[in-house]
Amino acid sequence: MIKKQIAILGSTGSIGTQALEVIGANPDRFAVAVLTAQSNVDLLITQALKFNPACVVIADDSKYAQLKSALAHTQIEVKAGLNALCECVLLPQITVVLTALVGFAGLKPTIAAIKAGKHIALANKETLVVAGQLITQLSTEYGVKILPVDSEHSAIFQCLQGEEHNPIEKIYLTASGGPFRGRNIEFLSEVTPQQALKHPNWTMGAKITIDSATLMNKGLEVIEAKWLFNLEAAQIDVIVHPQSIVHSMVQFTDGSMKAQMGLPDMKLPIQYALAYPERIKNDFKRFSFLDYPALTFEQADTQTFKNLDLAFTALKQGGNMPCILNAANEVVVANFLEEKIGFLQMSEVIETCMAKIAYLKNPVLEDYYKTDAETRIFAQQLVTNI
Ligand code: NAD
Ligand code: MG
Repeated sequence: MIKKQIAILGSTGSIGTQALEVIGANPDRFAVAVLTAQSNVDLLITQALKFNPACVVIADDSKYAQLKSALAHTQIEVKAGLNALCECVLLPQITVVLTALVGFAGLKPTIAAIKAGKHIALANKETLVVAGQLITQLSTEYGVKILPVDSEHSAIFQCLQGEEHNPIEKIYLTASGGPFRGRNIEFLSEVTPQQALKHPNWTMGAKITIDSATLMNKGLEVIEAKWLFNLEAAQIDVIVHPQSIVHSMVQFTDGSMKAQMGLPDMKLPIQYALAYPERIKNDFKRFSFLDYPALTFEQADTQTFKNLDLAFTALKQGGNMPCILNAANEVVVANFLEEKIGFLQMSEVIETCMAKIAYLKNPVLEDYYKTDAETRIFAQQLVTNI
């Protein structure tokens, strides 16, 4: 069997480490070509020694010397800095690039990978939120697949197998509701980052865990779904499903619905994206109906959690509005984690940025960089003045 050579951008994170578990369990199918991290050099070294990639990159170049000396006795090429993220995906042996880094930082390396003809296993949803039109155009132009890793989008993608010619009427993205489901404004005005970081069903990186608590994660996923499945806003519905067993659903034009189900475990959608179109046998824990006598569904509380509507607004306006939403969100989440602003103020800052930053109907790549930079500065000023 020819092994698929995988590049993992963000190998030290939640998705990255789970991807390495999947790869490690299937050494006959997968090999690691590239590993990259922001600053966790110790884990990157351990991973590199175990998986023996051709190249490793540490984005934080102050950690380069430590990485280089720890791997000096190996054949592994060692690089540092943000440009190296774009260079490492060009290695000829790579077939799939797993984008498991966080935020806008994923945009540039994803474009570089697509232009080099690599298929993308996409965890880094922010890239599609910011520049979905451009990324989907490029993927068509360069003949590469964008394989969703996000559990909801993997679910939709799995439901669509064999349905290529059947139009979608609508999709339902399921949301757990996060740790503050059912809470009111008074409660939310006091919550701490520690409380927000306790997700009921998933263990994830800090940024997406806060996004899940504010419902921005679902908002970003609505925009992600638009681009992955070529949908209009009116075709995308969000339904809160606290058990996180139904990972999402597709409704076809005859009214028939397909759902994909399973225990909440990101290794499954990661494995599906890496092995696509095959399914690989594994020993992940199986779902039992008797453990879940009730699967429940309810409306999202968009009065209390404003971010979901802000994301729908951004999606409908299009242009650079999702980029503004994303940049403002990255700034407020970082500030909330440092206890510089409260939970509810996050939506306020995002909404102000969406109202004040110059709107562009037909942005090109450079515009996204400008919008992102401008929004970050403005959002940080708003936070400082709170
Ligand atoms: P994480 O914080 O656990 O890990 C992020 C990884 O990317 C780390 O290896 C880190 O070193 C690297 N990184 C972070 N910022 C970087 C930067 N600016 N430049 C270069 N490298 C950087 O995050 P995560 O939870 O694994 O999430 C990764 C992506 O996957 C996010 O876009 C998230 O929305 C998406 N996602 C995650 C989950 C999940 O279960 N964790 C589920 C669905 C989607
Ligand atoms: Mg998700």
